[in-house]
Amino acid sequence: MCIFCKIVNNEIPSNVVLENKKFLAFQDINPKAPTHILIIPKVHVESFNEVEPKIMKKMTKFIQDVTKKASIEQSGYRLITNIGEDGGQEVKHLHFHLLGGAKLAWPDLIDTSAKIDTATKNDAVQKSNPHTKKKVKK
Ligand code: AMP
Ligand code: ZN
Repeated sequence: MCIFCKIVNNEIPSNVVLENKKFLAFQDINPKAPTHILIIPKVHVESFNEVEPKIMKKMTKFIQDVTKKASIEQSGYRLITNIGEDGGQEVKHLHFHLLGGAKLAWPDLIDTSAKIDTATKNDAVQKSNPHTKKKVKK
């Protein structure tokens, strides 16, 4: 069972911010901003890749309720979900990071050690995309 499923089952303690039958919001253990809340569906879904739109439909309202509970809906916030390896997802249970309570920086998102890889990958994607055929200069 994954760590967030254990939190849902009360096998691991958490600081709950808001909860209903289907969703749970709790404080991140390693906060990156004055407000850093994790919002998850109680059912195990690995990531945004796998989530059914009908779950997201209900989750949207729940997330909005959490922003109000945290009193950041007017001051602003950032909502992030990391997916897979390149997304830097560590816990394989869909979660949204709700960050706020201060003016947030927009970080340099590319890991410098991965810059060359990314450039190579983008080039490969371009070459394999039939819609981006290069015009050959004569
Ligand atoms: P991610 O890298 O997007 O998978 O984020 C995982 C997040 O879960 C990190 O921000 C961690 O600090 C947080 N985290 C891990 N274990 C716990 C826990 N037991 N309680 C609260 N937050 C946790
Ligand atoms: Zn889980």
